[in-house]
Amino acid sequence: MSRPRIVVVGAGFGGLHTLRHLERRIPNGAADIALIAPNDYMLYSPLLPQVASGLLTPQSVAMSVHRLTRKTRLVPGHAVGVDTRDRTVVVRRPTGELAPCRYDRLVLAPGALTREFDIPGLTQHAYGAKTLAEAVLLRDHVLAQLELANDSRDPVEREERCRFIVVGGGYTGVETAASLMRLCEEAAKRYPELRSVIRWHLVDIAPKVLPELGDRLGRKALDLLRGLGIEVKLKVSVREVTADKVVLTDGRALPCRTLIWTAGVSPSPLMETLGKPTQRGRLEVGADLAVPGQPDVFAIGDAAAVPNLSHADSAYCPPTAQYATRQAATVAQNVVNSVLGRPLKEFRHKDMGLVVDLSGKDALARIMQFDLSGLPALAATRGYHMLSVPSPTARARIAANWGIRAFTGGEVSRMGFADEGRPSSFVANETVDYLDQKASRTEGARLLDNERERYGED
Ligand SMILES: Cc1cc2nc3c(=O)[nH]c(=O)nc-3n(C[C@H](O)[C@H](O)[C@H](O)COP(=O)(O)OP(=O)(O)OC[C@H]3O[C@@H](n4cnc5c(N)ncnc54)[C@H](O)[C@@H]3O)c2cc1C
Repeated sequence: MSRPRIVVVGAGFGGLHTLRHLERRIPNGAADIALIAPNDYMLYSPLLPQVASGLLTPQSVAMSVHRLTRKTRLVPGHAVGVDTRDRTVVVRRPTGELAPCRYDRLVLAPGALTREFDIPGLTQHAYGAKTLAEAVLLRDHVLAQLELANDSRDPVEREERCRFIVVGGGYTGVETAASLMRLCEEAAKRYPELRSVIRWHLVDIAPKVLPELGDRLGRKALDLLRGLGIEVKLKVSVREVTADKVVLTDGRALPCRTLIWTAGVSPSPLMETLGKPTQRGRLEVGADLAVPGQPDVFAIGDAAAVPNLSHADSAYCPPTAQYATRQAATVAQNVVNSVLGRPLKEFRHKDMGLVVDLSGKDALARIMQFDLSGLPALAATRGYHMLSVPSPTARARIAANWGIRAFTGGEVSRMGFADEGRPSSFVANETVDYLDQKASRTEGARLLDNERERYGED
């Protein structure tokens, strides 16, 4: 093979680190390296809850592919199919057209999507917390609910707008609930009347939160969440969601306009297009990360079922950033070995543990079986993120954001992303629309009469 074409799908933890390892191992010009990805950044998702709470700007968790790679050609778009016989990936470009991308070696790392469940109203009304856009939208939505509740005289509407339900007791749900709860506390300083109305709930069908932390730290997490004022309900899930109500499986119907769904992920549907065996949607690979019977295709990260050789108690590696990052080093080496006809290496990794930032000064960490809480855990959590973020620029941005918050406090202005319609200055002229409908002072008087009838004179 004169100049092999190596194609990587996905610019997340697995994909981006694979490219960086490949670039280091392959001499200039010896291979054509291409990345198929819808965005030109790697999302550092463990810090998304801090974007949702406004502690970090969105840019600080978006690591630029252009800054982090030098020899990679970006093919913008989504990979929508893999044809292993013709060694081609079908790409849907941002313009909507389909285009082929030929490969000699392929690394699939498209990650996972938020898992959908067959719960009436869930997809229409629930908010996700997995993408950058979702985090930014969530913050705006939560702040908008408080503003609207404060402006309303209807106690039912106030209750609906001030109740927030997070589903999922894993690290995403716990960190999202804790950081948004603190955002509400900060905002409520401007809305003292709402303080007694704001309610946060965390629900999970499992009997405990953060099972990865073990029993002792798990209980501590529960105490910390309850101490923050979050009502935690375990062994319960959601039966139905409407625009203004959430019905739980224990029969409780809670007036609520914000359900945040973090309960589980499902692997990218791209993996099914290969027609190879999958484990709950994750493409099965060998310990060398190659697809059995398909030595030119490799898969890693959340979308791959990788045998866990270092832990006898779990058959497959867990879907975490820690594993995707380590798998990237092995897959890059194996891609090079396979091109050169050398034997492939097996992937082995011992879990290093987990860090959980509960916002403010609260954090929990289990590192190599050592349990930490309070300030040592916060230091470990922040230190871990500083070491894991791949770009020095992003590291500086994140540290600066943390520093600015420590000295200046929180910012609770919303950006307008959650407003109805297209976010454009062209559609902002609602006064003109109003006049067009021939609304006049008579209309104002009619609305005032309605209010007086409902709530009495001011
Ligand atoms: C809020 C949150 C907090 C988390 N906290 C932690 C934590 O503390 N520790 C930890 O270890 N893990 C954590 N995780 C999990 C971690 O983010 C994932 O396990 C990790 O991102 C998986 O890496 P990946 O490369 O498989 O997928 P991703 O990092 O998700 O990357 C997938 C990439 O593929 C792209 N893509 C998707 N579909 C296609 C397609 N069809 N074609 C081309 N490109 C595509 C996506 O745009 C994305 O860039 C957290 C996740 C979330 C959401």
